[in-house]
Amino acid sequence: MRKLVIASRNKGKISELKELLRGQNFEILSLDDLPHIPEIEETGNSFKENALIKARITAQKTGFLTLADDSGLEVDALDGSPGIYSSRFAGPEKDDEANNKKLLSLLEGVPTEKRTARFRCVVAAVDPQGIEITTEGVCEGRIGFEPRGSYGFGYDPIFIVEEYGLTMAELKPEIKNKISHRAKALAKMATILKGIGNLG
Ligand code: IMP
Repeated sequence: MRKLVIASRNKGKISELKELLRGQNFEILSLDDLPHIPEIEETGNSFKENALIKARITAQKTGFLTLADDSGLEVDALDGSPGIYSSRFAGPEKDDEANNKKLLSLLEGVPTEKRTARFRCVVAAVDPQGIEITTEGVCEGRIGFEPRGSYGFGYDPIFIVEEYGLTMAELKPEIKNKISHRAKALAKMATILKGIGNLG
């Protein structure tokens, strides 16, 4: 069975990916199983570059096929901000509540129809021989006027998913995991990797 490393220590991401690759010909490891791999700095200028940086370094250090993702929120009224700076929007502490407060205050006075936004996620797969594949997923919505709901993380409480009329934090994880940017990007990647896994 071919080994596949998920370049993440985020339990939610790891279990989502394991679920999507279930029944395939991969033995899945994560950075929790490889504590000697250091924290990798996201120095790229796009989600794609950051996902590739994390996947390349981990593939080189482990010698195994590696998956990594990078994601964030793009708000149209702010010209696509916070984008790749989503986790550190309000400062290096990566405080979700502070990020949401900052975003809501920047959008003060902006009417509903101009509060459109999307979550974007890029997943990268890199093998030690240098083959690189990326896939992307997007989840469209708009920014609410106050936080609602307690599921999820990050900007979920202020991100309204149009088709449900609820914030991402009000949607059960089973639903989020079907419609999210990450789920969409991972599903595309899983389809590609299934082919690779079955080859080997
Ligand atoms: P990363 O991909 O783990 O680096 O996530 C970047 C940041 O984007 C997170 O810290 C959140 O602020 C935001 N973000 C990414 N995905 C989501 C999501 O599914 N819900 C809410 N916020 C998200």
